Amino acid sequence: MSQLTYQVPDHVHSPTPVRVGPDDPRYDHLVTRGASNRFNGEPDQVYVVGSTQQVISAVQEAVASGKRIAPRSGGCCFENLVDNPQVRAVIDLSDMTGVYFDPDLRAFAVEAGATLAEAYRRLYLGWGVTIPAGYCPEVGAGGHVVGGGYGPLCRLLGLVVDHLYAVEVVVVDADGRARGVIATREESDPNRELWWAHTGGGGGNFGVVTRYWFRSPDADPGLPPERLLPAPPATVLTFTAEWSWDGMDEAAFTRMVRNHGEWAEKHSGAGDEAAGLYSEFVLLRRAAGVHMIVGQVAAEPGEDERLLGEHIDAIGAGVAAPSELRTKRLPWLTAALKGPGDSVGDWHLKIKAAHLRRRFTDRQIATLYHHLTRTDTDVIGGSVSLNTFGGRVNEVAPEATAIPSRDSMLKLSYLVSWKEPEDAPRHLAWIRECYQDMYADTGGVPLPDEVNGGAFINYPDTDLADPERNTSGRPWSTLYYEDNYPRLQEVKAAWDPRGVFRHALSIEPAG
Ligand SMILES: Cc1cc2nc3c(=O)[nH]c(=O)nc-3n(C[C@H](O)[C@H](O)[C@H](O)COP(=O)(O)OP(=O)(O)OC[C@H]3O[C@@H](n4cnc5c(N)ncnc54)[C@H](O)[C@@H]3O)c2cc1C
Repeated sequence: MSQLTYQVPDHVHSPTPVRVGPDDPRYDHLVTRGASNRFNGEPDQVYVVGSTQQVISAVQEAVASGKRIAPRSGGCCFENLVDNPQVRAVIDLSDMTGVYFDPDLRAFAVEAGATLAEAYRRLYLGWGVTIPAGYCPEVGAGGHVVGGGYGPLCRLLGLVVDHLYAVEVVVVDADGRARGVIATREESDPNRELWWAHTGGGGGNFGVVTRYWFRSPDADPGLPPERLLPAPPATVLTFTAEWSWDGMDEAAFTRMVRNHGEWAEKHSGAGDEAAGLYSEFVLLRRAAGVHMIVGQVAAEPGEDERLLGEHIDAIGAGVAAPSELRTKRLPWLTAALKGPGDSVGDWHLKIKAAHLRRRFTDRQIATLYHHLTRTDTDVIGGSVSLNTFGGRVNEVAPEATAIPSRDSMLKLSYLVSWKEPEDAPRHLAWIRECYQDMYADTGGVPLPDEVNGGAFINYPDTDLADPERNTSGRPWSTLYYEDNYPRLQEVKAAWDPRGVFRHALSIEPAG
């Protein structure tokens, strides 16, 4: 298979970035390109960067002028960590989209501005390999990888950070000098802790990531590139189905959610025959009319249909068959570039996350039923999505990577969306009350215990840092990082001694 080469655009050879200020016609696009309309940034300057040298120049200039900096890659942040009035300089990496094999590091480089679609396409067409990253093709590698991203192949292949070999970061030293550093997972690398912090420590904490390099941990670097990362399945069976809310009373809802949890309890071990099955079971407000399930099965044709059939039957057992089950077997790349098929581009969004180690308790199911059916609010776009997790993810020790979530079977996202800014209060009230009640036994948050497994920094939620909404007595950092937090704080103190990279949920330096 031939190697694709990456053509460096001419402007990239310039040591200085493109500077875009508020009077520039490009400004509006750059400050509004985030996935959620909920927040608006108003930086003095957006630096559009095309190379590591340009990132260094941009960071140096922003530091010298005392401006608060935030990097932006794919723009899929759910909180105002970038679009925030305090951020005066945005480093926009959307033009750094290179994906290529690096013969020096014997690993695949993915520049931070590459979307997952770009990474999937180039890795697969060039070498027939992939990384087990997110389901949504528009997400940027920059924020996604450092947040410990997960996706449809992670039950088979682990998390994307399990394949992270190295990272290049532009950091700022104690004397205010910006410089690029490469940190690898090699035990002998003096920068290894910086690599570790990028295996789930979260974006915007240590510096600006310019490139990630991927090579599977068990791959001998002497092998040809085609064998240094996993090959995806040739085809996947994609599916969507719906269960109508019509006629679904509390008993039926309880049975269905319990069924789903029991299936996950049975099928989330590494090596389970259903490890190739990924589903997002989206429980919607009654006003939306239906519950949805969407996903894909990576298994031999025939076997994929059997596994999917058993999954769907298990969920509906004693309740109802889905009103419609649509399946399509697609070439893997076609499915990967399509993702779940919906875009959140034109919405105001709020997300809250949790992991589940065991199925919801019956009290939690009753609470969920209440919030999905309550009639004292007219919120329609509210949902709780239960995404399959576990499998190979749980074969890695929690301290091996900065993301500690290595014993959960489902990843949950509570999501609410609305169109007009004035609709925010009632939508925020709905999601906050739902979440608070779901975790009423642990201070309104999914404190790691037998059932719940903490939150997820790629679905950041600043409410967790609000003592009125998190009454667990444990800080937000426990929910995201558990026992890994002190180590992240050491890395923060060592690599960002001036606190240049900070936001509402950034790592606090040790000491
Ligand atoms: C539609 C949608 C679908 C999603 N699907 C998935 C999924 O399937 N799996 C999953 O795990 N997550 C998913 N996410 C969450 C996603 O992984 C996070 O939002 C991620 O942080 C996005 O990265 P980004 O570069 O696109 O976002 P950005 O908004 O650019 O950045 C997010 C955060 O990372 C920081 N950051 C960005 N670039 C850099 C950089 N180069 N160096 C250092 N810090 C940086 C930003 O400052 C910000 O704090 C989804 C989000 C959306 C909106």
